[in-house]
Amino acid sequence: MKKNKGNKKAQILTIIVFGLIAAFSLYFGNDITNSTIGTPNGILEISYLDVGQGDSAYIRVNDFDILIDAGPRSDSDKLMEQLKEKNIDDFEIVIATHPHEDHIGGMTKVFDEYDVESFYMPKSTSTTKTFENMINAVKNEGLKVQVIKEGMSFDLGDGAKLEVYSPIQDSYDNLNNYSPIMKLIYGNNSFIFTGDAEKEVEEEVLEKYSNNLKADVIKFGHHGSSTSSSEAFIEAISPKYGIISCGVDNSYGHPHREVLEVINKMNIKTYRTDKQGEITITSDGSNIDIKTEK
Ligand SMILES: [Zn+2]
Repeated sequence: MKKNKGNKKAQILTIIVFGLIAAFSLYFGNDITNSTIGTPNGILEISYLDVGQGDSAYIRVNDFDILIDAGPRSDSDKLMEQLKEKNIDDFEIVIATHPHEDHIGGMTKVFDEYDVESFYMPKSTSTTKTFENMINAVKNEGLKVQVIKEGMSFDLGDGAKLEVYSPIQDSYDNLNNYSPIMKLIYGNNSFIFTGDAEKEVEEEVLEKYSNNLKADVIKFGHHGSSTSSSEAFIEAISPKYGIISCGVDNSYGHPHREVLEVINKMNIKTYRTDKQGEITITSDGSNIDIKTEK
């Protein structure tokens, strides 16, 4: 093929573009088997925010501000108040676990108030206005929706990473089951996040990732509903501490008696947003400290 002057330029551009992609994949995405972890040299902070009958957690570690879900729209002012106290400049990562309103209703407000650098959700859709508004907010931010799925690992700097164990299937009948089951690791401490993933997915994760599951803290799936938190799954995690995110006197009866029985049986010290408000955990990579608003 005939060469021209533009060729060299194109080559350099290609190197730059792919170099950038490589840098980004180091930054955010590895697969679990290849991911490494350094030594923590700071403090990890996780806030399980009080968003009524919904779910939202804020994580600050190294240079990362991360939001997992944004609660329902009805409690978005409350969400904003709690976030504002934390002096967050922007969010490096925002994750929507699945398209239900009690998890994504507050998202548009988050995008209104903060710059967001990357947005992840499972490969699931919904025809609701809430979902549409969230996708528009992502687009208006100039971002593409990135798919979160099993096998991914987010490198979060010294001593910190986020491993993703589900969704494993390409599609589920129940939207709850798209919720990623994930583990945040900081030094020797680790924290399981579950969204609303139900027992069916817990079983899939148990089958594939049983050796990864042990953790200090679990946020119980689906607001403490009996559709989640099978004994086998909780046993594999063997957490010292548990978190339940649910609303005061909620109409679903969350948390359910079956889950409270598992908690009692395994002697898991459990905190609830309906009783204690915002729950904040800090870790230096070896020791865990828990404070509650109420
Ligand atoms: Zn939910």
